[in-house]
Amino acid sequence: MFKNHPRGLPVLFFTEMWERFGFYLMLGIFFLYMTEGPNAIAAKSGLGLSEEQGSDIYGTYIALVYLTPFIGGLLADRVLGYRRSIVIGGLLMGLGYCGLAIPGFGPTFFLSLLLIILGNGFFKPNISTLVGNLYNDERYRDYKDAGFNIFYMGINIGAFICNFVAAYLRNTYGWGYAFMAAGIGMFLGVAWFLSGMKHTAEADVLKPAKPGDQPVGQILAAVFGPAAVFGALGWFLPEMVLGAGKTVFLSKSNDAFLFACIPVTYYYFTLWRRADGEDRERIGALLPLFAAVIAFWAIFHQNGAALTKWANEYTRREIPEVVVPVADVVGAVQRVDTSLREVIIRDGHGDPVKGPDGKPAKELGPDPYFNNMPRDQWPKPPAAECTAEVIPPETQAKCKDAQTKLVSTELFQSVNAFFVVVLTPFVVGLFSFLRRKGKEPSTPGKIALGLFITALSTLVMVAATFATHNGADKGSAMWLVATYGVITLGELCLSPMGLSLVSKLSPPRLTALMMGGWFLSTSIGNKLSGILSGLFSLFEHKSGVFFLNFGGALLACFMVLLMLPRLRRVMNKYLK
Ligand code: GLN
Repeated sequence: MFKNHPRGLPVLFFTEMWERFGFYLMLGIFFLYMTEGPNAIAAKSGLGLSEEQGSDIYGTYIALVYLTPFIGGLLADRVLGYRRSIVIGGLLMGLGYCGLAIPGFGPTFFLSLLLIILGNGFFKPNISTLVGNLYNDERYRDYKDAGFNIFYMGINIGAFICNFVAAYLRNTYGWGYAFMAAGIGMFLGVAWFLSGMKHTAEADVLKPAKPGDQPVGQILAAVFGPAAVFGALGWFLPEMVLGAGKTVFLSKSNDAFLFACIPVTYYYFTLWRRADGEDRERIGALLPLFAAVIAFWAIFHQNGAALTKWANEYTRREIPEVVVPVADVVGAVQRVDTSLREVIIRDGHGDPVKGPDGKPAKELGPDPYFNNMPRDQWPKPPAAECTAEVIPPETQAKCKDAQTKLVSTELFQSVNAFFVVVLTPFVVGLFSFLRRKGKEPSTPGKIALGLFITALSTLVMVAATFATHNGADKGSAMWLVATYGVITLGELCLSPMGLSLVSKLSPPRLTALMMGGWFLSTSIGNKLSGILSGLFSLFEHKSGVFFLNFGGALLACFMVLLMLPRLRRVMNKYLK
């Protein structure tokens, strides 16, 4: 696979594979960890947050994780160098994952998230830049796109494997062990990277500021200064104007984030307005694309929250007995403890029944997984001896059988990664076939296509809500597999192309800023994914959020289609 490619590629491939292993391991179980309640085994207890709060923290985390690359990219470009940034970032992230292993919803939880957020800022944009730089050498120039495709595979191999490790560790030992595995993966990545430093040396070229370039400090002050002021306004103002506890966009973090976006958007708008000639045309082509891909990430990243909830509660996950031994080997089994505990009483639609105090009423029942199942179908709780805190070794085997075996929820996150690895050769092949016939869509055309396919993927989930009678029955796992399959096709038309388009179309002096813009729109989309996921339970019919997704993706698609003639003209003019 690495034949014809620079020696540095396998170094970066495996480094990124391990980094994404940790990143997606944590992301796959993060929402579950936050929203799951107490467990008889302490190490398996979640934080017990509400779904709304879980979605809110998930959205804020994944938004910030994609915000810091803006800063990390600039700093590496001008001051730190790429390799040093990658090592710093990797170590910070590794520490953050290990920190999450310390249980509890307190300062260490938030500090750990902060370390990951900062670490990703130093790491993620710079490893991609390094990949690109490896191919600046005349010998390799023609292999650049192929190199990025291979690299994207590395990302997704890590993202595929990690959920099996997470499932095995958290189901067998508890959440902390899974978070530690993410940290160890990250440290392995750093060690591998350090061992191959000599193969990446020549790609590590600083881009010192040229005359006329804005210094890094000034850029950060112009973007983040006003954003911080607006963010603070968003945090405090609604309560001051509307009254205590009131928000404009459902939560304080949403208000702060969306307010902060106003001056940042204005900054990019001014960049365009003040430019002239060629620069103006180039920036003018990129900004609408940034706006459009917000919709993609807003839908895509609901995988870690709304779709994880769907997998966890509205999907049949029982494993046929014959498959259990195999599933056991790969760590896919979650043995659900069916002992009695307090669970929320739900009506026929699976919605919580309110008690006299207005709060959801509770009763003694089996694991929450069975909550929205008709009561007569609840599994029998295991005998009392199996629910004891300490189970004597001689009865352990028996108790194991008394438990229900399910596919562990986070494995659904591997479906997307699997499809990326399987479908990449197909998509690459299709486009090169079309190129030979002179019919390959332009990059913005592919982005529009990606958005259209994304819209289709949301309809699969709409169908799932109807097929399950609004979540009253559990649905087939195939609904999720199908929706992930379709959206992955969309991703492959949009995500890898996006980065290369930005690097080609940006005015050369502004590449770092424009890359920052791409990550910022990812960040905004990610925040929206948390907001949308939080709306999931507010709709009477569970298709509500998926219909919203459909509308958003279609709107973004039309926007790009309308701009297409102009985008094509700019590209033909400057990229020939
Ligand atoms: N899945 C890809 C990665 O992890 C793309 C993610 C993104 O750009 N938001 O690199």
